[in-house]
Amino acid sequence: MVFDVITIFPDFFRSILEHGLLKRAMVAGHVEVRLRDLRDFTNDRHRSVDDRPFGGGPGMVFKPEPIFRAVETLKAESRGANFPVILLSPQGRLLTQAVAEELARESRIVLISGRYEGVDERVAENLASDEVSIGEYVLSGGELAAAVVMEVVARLLPGVLGNEESCEQESFSSCGQSVGGRKHGMLDFPHYTRPADFRGLCVPEVLLSGDHEKIRQWRRKRALEKTWRRRPDLLQSIELNDEDRRILDQLQRAACEAPIQRD
Ligand code: SAM
Repeated sequence: MVFDVITIFPDFFRSILEHGLLKRAMVAGHVEVRLRDLRDFTNDRHRSVDDRPFGGGPGMVFKPEPIFRAVETLKAESRGANFPVILLSPQGRLLTQAVAEELARESRIVLISGRYEGVDERVAENLASDEVSIGEYVLSGGELAAAVVMEVVARLLPGVLGNEESCEQESFSSCGQSVGGRKHGMLDFPHYTRPADFRGLCVPEVLLSGDHEKIRQWRRKRALEKTWRRRPDLLQSIELNDEDRRILDQLQRAACEAPIQRD
C-alpha cells in the first residue's frame, strides 16, 4: 500500500513514521508513505499555497492550483493507474472500521491535508474522489486526520499485525459480516492479564479454567452484553446466530425484571 500525503507540514509525520505500527509496516515492506510538500507544486517566488477567500471573511483558503498540480504529477508518475484521491475534511463521510476495510483493498491512496479555513471547493468537486472526516469536530489541519487514516488502514493489511495480534475480533471489525449491505461488528470482549488477583480485584474464573469452549462462550457473551449496553445501534447490522439471540433474550429479560442502566 502506498500512501501519498500532500501537506504543507511533511515534518509533522516524522514521529508517527518512526514509531509503532506504521514504522513496522514500512520496514517490513507492507506500506510506503511518500510525503509531498504542497509548496513544491507552487510556481511563485513565495511558494504560496493560500489566498484570501472570495466574498470576504476571516482566514485563508488553500488555492486550487498547487493541489491540482500535485495530484496531476502523481497521476502522471503512475501512468494512468486509478487510485482514490481523498480530501481530509470535517464535511466528509465518517471514517468507520467499514470505511477503513474498504480503503484497505486499494493499493495506493492519496491524502490531501487542508489547513486554515479549508481548501478551495473546486478541489472537492473536481479533483478529489472522496472526502473523509475522522470525526464530528474541527481540527486545525488535515495532518492528524491523514495519520489516523494511514494507521487504521495499515493495520488491516495482510501481514502488518503479527501472529500474536489480530484485528478480527476487535471492536467494529466486520469479520466479513454484511447485513443489508452494511458491514459492522460488535464491541470487543473485556481483556485481562496477570496478576489474576490485583488488590482483591479478581479475573473472571472461567479465563483461568483452560476450557477453550467455555472461554469462547464467555467472550462472545461479554462482547454482546457490552455492545447491547453501550452501542445497541450496532446490533441492528450484525449477523446474530442462535446462541447470540439466546444471550440477548436473557439480557432483555433480566433488564425487564430488574431494569439495568445502560452505560
Ligand atoms: N472551515 C472548515 C469547516 O468548517 O468545515 C474547517 C477547516 S479546518 C480548520 C482545516 C483543515 O483541517 C480542513 O481543510 C481539513 O483538511 C482538516 N480537518 C479539520 N477537521 C477535520 C476532520 N474532522 N476530519 C478530517 N479533516 C479535518
